[in-house]
Amino acid sequence: IVTIGILALQGAFAEHQVMLQKASLKRRVVIVLVRQQEDLDKCDALIIPGGESTTIALLARLAGLLEPIREFLKTKPVWGTCAGAILLSRSVEGAKKGGQELLGGISITIERNGFGSQVESFEAPLEVESLREANRPFHGIFIRAPVVIGLNPSPTDPPIQIISRISASLLPTSQTAVPLDEDDTDPRDSRTIVALRQGLHLLTTFHPELTKDDRFHEYFVRECVLPTLSSRSSSPA
Ligand code: GLN
Repeated sequence: IVTIGILALQGAFAEHQVMLQKASLKRRVVIVLVRQQEDLDKCDALIIPGGESTTIALLARLAGLLEPIREFLKTKPVWGTCAGAILLSRSVEGAKKGGQELLGGISITIERNGFGSQVESFEAPLEVESLREANRPFHGIFIRAPVVIGLNPSPTDPPIQIISRISASLLPTSQTAVPLDEDDTDPRDSRTIVALRQGLHLLTTFHPELTKDDRFHEYFVRECVLPTLSSRSSSPA
């Protein structure tokens, strides 16, 4: 049995719950809606849903959950979707950065609402090799989604693994003009990343929980959560 928490302060937490219940998993999953530290303490992993990142951060601060989640993600897997992806990032840049407190489990820089107003919300088929039935595209739902504007792992951070990219033709043309930094020869390079992993954690800038496709939930449990459980139980006391 594995216990997965869903941060349930604001946003699409109920949809994640429905999806986890139906995900085709070998293990039984117990779902905990996390609203206070006691809830978090029961969990082997955590999902931070989409919604409004400033609101979620504020409510997490009020619930006394920010520090406990920062501790949690040092040893346990966390998956952030959309607003949750913003909170999991190490820094937020751009005009709409909002000043929210971050959890910072993944060493990227992200821009809120980064696709710009002309494509504020859109849907796009995504190729994701690591999912089961990989030749069937995953339906990506992007709602005022953030854009990954830089990967900045330090030498001691786990490597960042790119799980899926979106077609560059969907990016606003304004984003092609300014190079990100000296090493980044293609300024759009990181901006097309819509799903990535670092260490135990998973980040998607779109909303798998708003589809009927459980493959990302199944992937999170199989690839991020279960390996940490077996390594913990097999490590010497
Ligand atoms: N734009 C939202 C934010 O900045 C995220 C949108 C979403 O989660 N769908 O928090």
